[in-house]
Amino acid sequence: MKQEIQDLVNKGLMLPLMEEFYTIQGEGYHKGTAAYFVRIGGCDVGCHWCDVKESWIADLHPPTKTETIVANAKKYSDTVVVTGGEPLTWDMTELTRQLKEEGCKIHIETSGAYELTGQWDWICLSPKKMKLPTKKVYEKADELKVIIYNKDDFKFAEEQAAKVNDNCILYMQPEWSKRDKMIPLIVDYVMANPKWKVSLQTHKYLNIP
Ligand code: SF4
Repeated sequence: MKQEIQDLVNKGLMLPLMEEFYTIQGEGYHKGTAAYFVRIGGCDVGCHWCDVKESWIADLHPPTKTETIVANAKKYSDTVVVTGGEPLTWDMTELTRQLKEEGCKIHIETSGAYELTGQWDWICLSPKKMKLPTKKVYEKADELKVIIYNKDDFKFAEEQAAKVNDNCILYMQPEWSKRDKMIPLIVDYVMANPKWKVSLQTHKYLNIP
């Protein structure tokens, strides 16, 4: 990448854009809501079950001006979900400032592994064991979404729930490839511990991106 482009990416004026699409949010608190998804490339958290491994290497995704991303989003929706990859790899200040200027509601899906930048109407924190969230993301998270891949993840979920703010909504979501095995365990767990709710990847059942 040319140095001047890299400088713009480092400042968050351009972002490695993997894909963008208008769809239905399938997971968590806003499931069922139409939204424009912006998937930013780059993630070094390294979840072995990650279903967007193509996102990991930022250089594979074209540096795109934030103005272009905002203009594209505005054609479709006033609700924008920024996801990845790990979007907080990059400085989100400029993208969210421009989206706010356009009157958008802005949500982020993040592992919280890096410093929280940008202004958000909704923060969905999905923590990962390999790189735990920063303190500020725990404090600001609106929902905690813990992916349940195996039985150890129930303990991890409780550890994470102890770190978020009191108003944060707590979700357990089965990892897709383990859903048949884990859904019955999650159902039992949530009935025994009703501070938790169940989240499913409903977009996959709907056969949409
Ligand atoms: Fe994949 Fe998200 Fe884990 Fe990164 S944090 S490896 S994008 S699941």
